[in-house]
Amino acid sequence: MLIKRPQNIVVVGGNAAGAAAAAKAKRNSPSSNVILYERSKFISTGTCELPYLISGEIKDYKDIVFFSADSFKEEKQVEVFVEHSVESIDRRSKKIAVKNVISGHIYYQDYDKLILTTGSSAINHPDLLEPSQNLFHLKSVPDYIKIDNYLKSNKCKDVLIIGGGYIGLETTESFHKSGFNVTILERDSLPLGNSEIEIKNRIKETLEKKNIRFYGNSDRLKVFKEGNYIKKIVANGIIFEPDMVIVSIGFKPRTQIGQAAMLNIGKYNGFKTDSFLKTNDPNILSAGDNSEVTNFITKKNDYIPLATIAHSMGHIAGDNASGAFNKFLPVIKNIAVKLFDNCYSQVGLTHKEATEHRFNFEVITAEVPNLVKVMSNTKPTFGKILYEKNSKQILGASFFGQQEAIGNADIIATLIQNKITGSTLYNANYNYSPPCSPFINLLSVLGRKINKD
Ligand SMILES: Cc1cc2nc3c(=O)[nH]c(=O)nc-3n(C[C@H](O)[C@H](O)[C@H](O)COP(=O)(O)OP(=O)(O)OC[C@H]3O[C@@H](n4cnc5c(N)ncnc54)[C@H](O)[C@@H]3O)c2cc1C
Repeated sequence: MLIKRPQNIVVVGGNAAGAAAAAKAKRNSPSSNVILYERSKFISTGTCELPYLISGEIKDYKDIVFFSADSFKEEKQVEVFVEHSVESIDRRSKKIAVKNVISGHIYYQDYDKLILTTGSSAINHPDLLEPSQNLFHLKSVPDYIKIDNYLKSNKCKDVLIIGGGYIGLETTESFHKSGFNVTILERDSLPLGNSEIEIKNRIKETLEKKNIRFYGNSDRLKVFKEGNYIKKIVANGIIFEPDMVIVSIGFKPRTQIGQAAMLNIGKYNGFKTDSFLKTNDPNILSAGDNSEVTNFITKKNDYIPLATIAHSMGHIAGDNASGAFNKFLPVIKNIAVKLFDNCYSQVGLTHKEATEHRFNFEVITAEVPNLVKVMSNTKPTFGKILYEKNSKQILGASFFGQQEAIGNADIIATLIQNKITGSTLYNANYNYSPPCSPFINLLSVLGRKINKD
């Protein structure tokens, strides 16, 4: 079959999804002009690595800028325009308005296929809407550069993190490792909003052990400023006088230009696409943090802003914009977080989500040593699995321990994806080596409990 290749494929946004989409489209269709517009100075950055710049585990932000506009063009044959913002889409004439953010000049670019990979933006705290010189987000390389410049030119000791989700926790650890006094203010009573109670308590204990102050139920903040500087924040009558405030309360999909062009938006305000990642305009696709996905377990639309998902969606959008017909399959949420000496992972649904989606499910938990007991570096490892009562299909799991917590979540994701029941975990052939793995694996213990039910 002869595939008709589009002449101009234009990608808006050049991070995880956009860089993948542009590279894939050009690889698939070398005769097309593939053009990438990015509003900031940087394309193809390692956003997930940002906290580790603060801790010094990654030395220089340039190490997480994987391509410059020039190197991307040279290696991928994609025309890249950084510091160019796409302002609007005219679907009838198939043109976009592009603004050079330095000169302010606006011009128009034709497209045959348009891929929107505009990502997400950090949510502002309602009590901290006004910009202040010591108020920051950590969402992008430019955000990191602002934080770094501020730290270099001001004496800072006390850092207040607003939000105890996984990114707030990673940021907390990084500042703590760099010698700052860190305090977290969180709206809920415990950290890691949506996760299991056993995990939240373990995370709170970890923070306490490191002398990190955690204040739950702190949703209303009274902010006192001196000019452009946050001097004092009062939450629940407690006074905080931070040198620096980092707001980390989540992301929202960035869809404004698509909404203005009447593209469909879903329940979570992300672009709603079909399984080929086409919006309601067949010439416009979307991918990454600006888009909703189908959740493999609930079969419903969901919003899961993760780099792994953004990258895969970008590939498929690039493929399909250049003439292929590849489906983006429903996804299983699978996240991993390292917090000081522990790792946490969560895969599939949490107890709260399984309840909200009205599954009829059972819960089992276990805590066992992660190595054979006699090894001096043995640590406890905790696991919790939720499974459907009748079918014994796993709905979700959480682990808290050492590195094995991360691998366990990947095993569970594979089971869920292949519809293999939780009982199978009991009979699996686990390896054993005293310095690496336990004689009786946590997953086997959990599988035995599912079998007994
Ligand atoms: C601190 C931190 C840690 C994280 N850790 C992890 C992790 O460990 N694992 C994981 O899987 N995920 C992690 N994530 C999430 C992950 O970074 C995002 O899911 C991923 O960056 C999404 O990529 P994206 O390309 O869809 O969107 P974005 O990264 O938001 O990029 C969108 C790009 O589009 C540009 N843009 C927007 N509008 C326009 C316009 N109109 N014109 C031109 N350009 C435009 C923006 O400037 C931006 O560069 C983390 C995120 C943060 C902030």
